[in-house]
Amino acid sequence: MHGLPEEVKFCRRCVVSNQRPSSTVEFKNDSLKKETIEFDKDGVCSACAYHDLKYKEINWDQRENELLTLLEKYRSPNREFDVIVPGSGGKDSFYISHILKNKYGMTPLTVTWPPHMYTDIGRKNFDAWLQSGFSNITYSPNQDFHRKLTKAAFENLCHPFQPFILGQKQVGVKIAKAMGIDLVFYGESQAEGGTNIREGMQPMMLPKYFTAPSNEIKRLPLGGVTVEEWLQQGFTLADLDPYIPTDADQFRSAGIEVHYLGYYHCWRPQDHYYYAVENGNFNPNPERTEGTYSKYASLDDKIDGFHYYTTYIKFGIGRATYDAAQEIRNGHLTREEGVRLVHKYDGEFPKRYMAEFLEYCDLTMDKFNRIIDENRSPNLWEKADQEHSRWELKHKVW
Ligand SMILES: [Zn+2]
Repeated sequence: MHGLPEEVKFCRRCVVSNQRPSSTVEFKNDSLKKETIEFDKDGVCSACAYHDLKYKEINWDQRENELLTLLEKYRSPNREFDVIVPGSGGKDSFYISHILKNKYGMTPLTVTWPPHMYTDIGRKNFDAWLQSGFSNITYSPNQDFHRKLTKAAFENLCHPFQPFILGQKQVGVKIAKAMGIDLVFYGESQAEGGTNIREGMQPMMLPKYFTAPSNEIKRLPLGGVTVEEWLQQGFTLADLDPYIPTDADQFRSAGIEVHYLGYYHCWRPQDHYYYAVENGNFNPNPERTEGTYSKYASLDDKIDGFHYYTTYIKFGIGRATYDAAQEIRNGHLTREEGVRLVHKYDGEFPKRYMAEFLEYCDLTMDKFNRIIDENRSPNLWEKADQEHSRWELKHKVW
């Protein structure tokens, strides 16, 4: 199911399995075929292979020189906006915008594709971000469409977070184009999570993630429904604008460049957290985040927990696995500690915001459970106990 490899293997270095999809071109995601991360002959995943390069091979001083050359070309001498930093005000976007401004003398305009439903802590961190000295454009979409798209993405793809990902990838270029700013900086390079290393070792985001030829637009599936079908339902291209890619020709002639800071700076999410606490008023979650052990990552949207719960159902990979794999690769956890944390927290049921999620998507609990169960791939799940219909993963990391 979901186009996943039949045989389940776990990386020998971190805790991720070969069921993890690599970066998806989200506006083409119809759930039929997923590319998954590569494993080498020694059973090591491509994200861990990249981290070998990151800590042993890549010359980060040289990469910083490349960054200086790039910024020299775009820096505005009059301190007008010269770079777009998309983000929500979490630790990573705080870090990117803050060092571009304070270390490299750039003048960032921050751009936000807002969460479906801000958590209190997410809203506070967003405010603290701007209070630390940034201007911001927030692209708030048509909420009627956003809600219907979220419902469709959950029902058709078991992917309620898709509307957020779609907009987050598009919003940088859309605002850059509208404002006449030629440089956009996103955060982590695709290689961090295991997209093939060749693609991940490039400084720029590939245009396939945010552009398409204009004659393809109407056929693109959003939430499993084509653009054409959404238009037939009475929505307009204006309603759909933030979710659909920029016309490829227009992008080329606009001369905009979209870079990853993670290509130029050794990317360590935990360090960004400490940086954001020291240099701003960043707050961790006062309580542990459901489904994991951490308190500092991905905590601004009430939908986040449902995103990781659905990846646990579809791929057997929940939030604790993502967090632990990343922290093992960056040397903050041993593999043994990671395995214990995955056993303890992965797949924890997201009950904190369940009532709000059901109301937001206009769903009943029964319908929610039915969609969840329909998306359990048979190579991953079995009924451990017929009477209580309790599902269990067939393969656990060990
Ligand atoms: Zn690995």
